[in-house]
Amino acid sequence: MKSIDHQVVIVGGGAGGLELAARLGRKFGPRHVVLIDRSDAHIWKPSLHEVAAGTLDIHREGLSYFMLAKDCGFTFVLGEVEAVDSKARQVQIKPVYADTGEEIFSSRTLPYHTLVMSVGSKSNFFGTPGAAEHAIALDSTAEAERFRLKLLHLLVAANRRKADDPSLQLNIGIVGGGATGVELAAELLEALDDAVFYGLNQLDPKRDIRIVLLEGADRILSALPPKMSAAAQRLLEDRGVTVRTSVRVAAVGEHELTDAEGRSYPVDLCVWAAGIKAPAWLRDLGLETNRVNQLVVDRYLRTTDPDIYAIGDCAQAPWQGQEGALPARAQVAHQQVGYLIDVLDARIRGAEDRPAKGFRFRDYGSLVSVGHSRGVGSLMGVLSGKSWFVEGLLARWMYMSLHLMHHFAVLGPVRTATLAIGRLLTKRGAPRVKLH
Ligand SMILES: Cc1cc2nc3c(=O)[nH]c(=O)nc-3n(C[C@H](O)[C@H](O)[C@H](O)COP(=O)(O)OP(=O)(O)OC[C@H]3O[C@@H](n4cnc5c(N)ncnc54)[C@H](O)[C@@H]3O)c2cc1C
Repeated sequence: MKSIDHQVVIVGGGAGGLELAARLGRKFGPRHVVLIDRSDAHIWKPSLHEVAAGTLDIHREGLSYFMLAKDCGFTFVLGEVEAVDSKARQVQIKPVYADTGEEIFSSRTLPYHTLVMSVGSKSNFFGTPGAAEHAIALDSTAEAERFRLKLLHLLVAANRRKADDPSLQLNIGIVGGGATGVELAAELLEALDDAVFYGLNQLDPKRDIRIVLLEGADRILSALPPKMSAAAQRLLEDRGVTVRTSVRVAAVGEHELTDAEGRSYPVDLCVWAAGIKAPAWLRDLGLETNRVNQLVVDRYLRTTDPDIYAIGDCAQAPWQGQEGALPARAQVAHQQVGYLIDVLDARIRGAEDRPAKGFRFRDYGSLVSVGHSRGVGSLMGVLSGKSWFVEGLLARWMYMSLHLMHHFAVLGPVRTATLAIGRLLTKRGAPRVKLH
């Protein structure tokens, strides 16, 4: 028996929040399920390095939340949540303005019975001087697009000046050798070749464009098995990327990075991909948070307020059976959704809200893209519990299937198939890299 008025409000429609809204919406409909996001279109965050490199067009890839709401049966509210009043059980949403400055929606409040926070994370500059001013972080489509345009302008200018200055070199610095930094470096290599193919042919990417990847740990992909790190580093270096490990960047200037040893690295464009933190306003909700602003949740994914849950990157959830907290990964957010569906189902029906078992993450392994035809990964055997190393095209296909699985969870099988075929066909009529 459904509780007549129980309203679940989900703040943040990313990898976790959107899947949750779609799956819950299909079951209970728009009166019970509300999704709030500050953007009007969804993009799967692990694709942002492709947006930044120009190999993925956000205007084709983005899925309208209004369309998804209609298709999946939830209510979509456009706006940025800035506060939660847990006593009054309502969220406070900022006004929404058009590019012209015109107010589209004024400031609003929205009541909830159960609140799910899934607002993701942003880059953590760790207070490094100059990082926030001079480095671009791939936190959002807007930032990824800013990087792409800046890169394009630099390439066009360098191509024009190359005839007069044969020694000219363009330097791209990537701070952080985790999955984001590694995938971006590989994606840039392909994008630069494509840019030359489409006419910036005064430049020879191997000779004139230097990509430097700086990592503080003693190996890249340090959270993943050493075999993956070694394979990824070999693949990047074979293709001309300079990889430096055990390098801690101490300052970011407009044209150079300086490390803790005082060495400097020239940069024309710098990306910061060296760690994450949750949005600072989460600290003001009166709930327990950790030092990187994540909401601390118990094994039922509940915050210190029993009516507020948190999933994905903005939550610090215990890793049952292991020490420490779960990593900030799309796979974690996806599995948390599967768990929370049952919890919220019971809440909406007015039944017992706490299942006997807490959330248990099952690590199926990790995959990292190292170009369009290469990947590296370690897969966990479901029965054996052993990990298997995969490399090459197979790993890349498996990596791509993760994005498809996200679409599948949100759109269902028919729409996912239609979309995949449609994109395959439109790709044939579009340039390999976005040049405008
Ligand atoms: C370049 C890149 C590559 C990555 N590659 C991988 C990978 O290969 N595998 C993997 O597992 N993970 C990868 N990740 C990490 C993965 O993207 C995140 O772990 C995952 O997206 C977290 O999901 P989420 O739902 O918590 O947050 P997100 O997907 O970040 O979604 C947060 C949502 O909240 C919205 N929002 C934020 N603040 C507000 C607010 N105040 N009000 C309203 N809405 C708000 C945002 O607009 C966004 O839609 C990658 C990340 C990046 C940046």
